Amino acid sequence: AHLDRIAAVDESVHAFLHVDTEGALAQAAAVDARRAAGDELGPLAGVPLALKDVLAQEGVPTTAGSKILEGWKPPYDSTVVARLRAAGIVILGKTNMDEFAMGSSTENSAYGVTRNPWDLNRIPGGSGGGSSAALASYEAPLAIGTDTGGSIRQPGSVTGTVGVKPTYGGTSRYGLIALASSLDTPGPCARTTLDAALLHEAIAGYDPRDSTSIDQPVPPVVEAARRGDVQGLRIGVVKELGGEGYQPGVEARFHEAVELLTKLGAEVVEVSCPNFEYALPAYYLILPSEASSNLAKFDAMRFGLRVGDDGLNDAEKVMGMTRAAGFGAEVKRRIMLGTHALSSGYYDAYYGQAQKVRTLIVQDFERAFEQVDVLVSPSTPTTAFPIGERVNDPIAMYKNDLCTIPTNLAGNAAASFPCGLADEDGLPVGFHVMAPVLRDDRLYTVGAALE
Ligand code: GLN
Repeated sequence: AHLDRIAAVDESVHAFLHVDTEGALAQAAAVDARRAAGDELGPLAGVPLALKDVLAQEGVPTTAGSKILEGWKPPYDSTVVARLRAAGIVILGKTNMDEFAMGSSTENSAYGVTRNPWDLNRIPGGSGGGSSAALASYEAPLAIGTDTGGSIRQPGSVTGTVGVKPTYGGTSRYGLIALASSLDTPGPCARTTLDAALLHEAIAGYDPRDSTSIDQPVPPVVEAARRGDVQGLRIGVVKELGGEGYQPGVEARFHEAVELLTKLGAEVVEVSCPNFEYALPAYYLILPSEASSNLAKFDAMRFGLRVGDDGLNDAEKVMGMTRAAGFGAEVKRRIMLGTHALSSGYYDAYYGQAQKVRTLIVQDFERAFEQVDVLVSPSTPTTAFPIGERVNDPIAMYKNDLCTIPTNLAGNAAASFPCGLADEDGLPVGFHVMAPVLRDDRLYTVGAALE
């Protein structure tokens, strides 16, 4: 049924870069065979899923939205994919994304834009716009995204779906094409809180193949999603994430959701996180620095595209021509920014300084979580904007991540849950919840209460 739905609507939505019809049917048949053989299968066995094209799946094209990886088929499964398979989840195909997950609208994909199912002239968020659009258009009931600065939560917010960024290290990065290794976090996307929690449980947990994986039990996310009991939960509204620059309809729905939580027994206070205002500039130094280093491996020798190879063995020329042809404008912008920020003489002024700001943001969270159990804000300052509106204005595009970025810098858990439609445009608004490290269960408590 989902393959039929994709065939019917994906021409207009363009959520998928690759639909693995044969593979999906074979996986479904294998689940049936396991069931018939008496295997104990988990609650998601046989449920189809859309996979962001930044995670390696053996033998299936994986591009990270870039021309430089066109035609590359990974020889192995990422840990996330291995765990999906173990749970009997059926992977329908790979979803569109901003090139190397750099963006907030999916307009930076080398393979065309994805459209928001709520309004086909608007963006579905980014970088994981394909995954969220697949959910909102009912092409898939589950999806996987990756969140480096908001790329799960922000698309969730603007498509009226659930997106969860687990605690950094709570889900494995093995087989994830790296953007910024100290920030990247794979996570679940779904249409309901409970679906997201079940998927979270299926993919999370310690992985010896990821050096930053946390060797601790997975937080009780499913139990939290089933109970949704906010009685006595202390909720802090972040003072700095609201007001000027926030769309009135977004703020109205956000405050109504806070009132609802109060009625359900939560204790709500206002909390100040004074260093959050420096999160965006710090992130846009740390991210390009790490990205410029991670993307050095796309050298025309090891993976994908090779341009200008005339057999004369001029490796430097081939690398230059391949990178010029294979990377898009935003990727080049960030490689240049990052290379500059890391160069000797500038390191202390830029990268070193940004890392100090990062510590201040961690301390803001620590102080806040002494007073409250979770922090909340809108997920994004505005609803989905029109395709093309910000594509030539990188700063306007970056500002979309104002609410989501502090969590990535600190490594704790956060999620976006739908909380209604804005009056001005009838488009979905997201409610953003942030929890301490390894207290991902609290996100689901709040998400379930709001449903
Ligand atoms: N929009 C942010 C960026 O462009 C988020 C990216 C992400 O989370 N992958 O960097």
